[in-house]
This record gives sequence, structure tokens and C-alpha cells, in this order.
Amino acid sequence: MNYYGNSVNNLIQHFARLPGIGGKSAQRLAFHVINMPEDEAKAFAQSILNAKQEVRFCAKCCNLTDNELCDICSNPSRDSSTVMVVESPRDMAAYEKTGEYKGLYHILHGAMSPMRDIGPEDIKIKELLARINDDIKEVILATNPTVEGEATAVYISRLLKPMGIVVSRIAHGVPMGSDIEFVDQITLSRALEGRRQI
Ligand code: ZN
Repeated sequence: MNYYGNSVNNLIQHFARLPGIGGKSAQRLAFHVINMPEDEAKAFAQSILNAKQEVRFCAKCCNLTDNELCDICSNPSRDSSTVMVVESPRDMAAYEKTGEYKGLYHILHGAMSPMRDIGPEDIKIKELLARINDDIKEVILATNPTVEGEATAVYISRLLKPMGIVVSRIAHGVPMGSDIEFVDQITLSRALEGRRQI
């Protein structure tokens, strides 16, 4: 039933396609947008286009950025001898919030999963290998403690160890099966401190 006309229905449908947004929330958001002042609605629409057009992968760590290098890679006070490998930009943000880690990151944008047909070539592993140089002394594998995250960590460690790099895995203070993004900061700090060489 077309209660509101095509424009409103179209907007509702777009919101309903977003993750975690059900039909009722989609309607609420669509009506919120319709009631926005025109300037605000334009800025909102433009921010979606800008994000889509301007955002790219950092040339070094594959983080999302508007520039060639992300803020972390272009910060000279970061310790470039340590690289922490994480699955997503949100995991990186979680470690940044602990304030404990001063090294660089590498964002894989996923984890290997035979079940979902995601192989090593589908995530940013070759980009990691390409940036390994003499400056890098340690790679910390901080993929999620899930079956996929563990398999990815083991795969990467097998590639890196012959290159003479210290490879470590975060400690299991992070509960098995959990998503790093949602683990509290103290647990993450402890997991990082308690990392062991593999
Ligand atoms: Zn970067």
C-alpha cells in the first residue's frame, strides 16, 4: 500500500536496506530526514557521496582515509618497527582507544573463511607482505579469536616467519568467539601486553 507517495517510500526502502534497520526504524529515519531543514538534508546527502567518492585505502596499511596515507601511517611519532594486523578499521579504532599501542597497523578487511569462500587473495595479505621491510621487527596478529581469525593468523605467521620477523599473537584475555570491536579497553590492553611469540 502506497500511503506516502513514491519519494517517501523510496527513502524508506533505502534506510531499510541498511544493516540493523527494520521497517519501523526505516520509516522513523525517513520522516526525520523529511522534517530536516533543506540545508541539513543536502549536507547529509552530500556526506554520503563524499564518503563514497573520497574514501580510499591507505597506501601503506589499507585503513580508510581521504589521503594517500592515513593519519596513523603519516604520523612520524608512531613506532614503524611494529605492525599490528587487524581484521577491520573498527578493530584498529578499538586498539587506538586503549592508548597503549604506538606502532602501525595493517587492516586485512576480513578474515579467511573456507565456509564463506574467502581465501587469502580476498583480504589484504599480499599488501601486508609487500610492505614488510628491514624496519619492521615485529608483527602482532590481532585478528579476532574466532575460527576464521585463528586460521588467518596461522596462515600469515607461516608466511612471515621465514622472513626473520618476530610474529606474535594477542593473548587469550580476549574471549574465544568474540569480536574485538566490542571488547572493553582493559581486556584489549592486557591481551596486547600478554602477547606471545608464535
Ligand atoms: Zn595507513
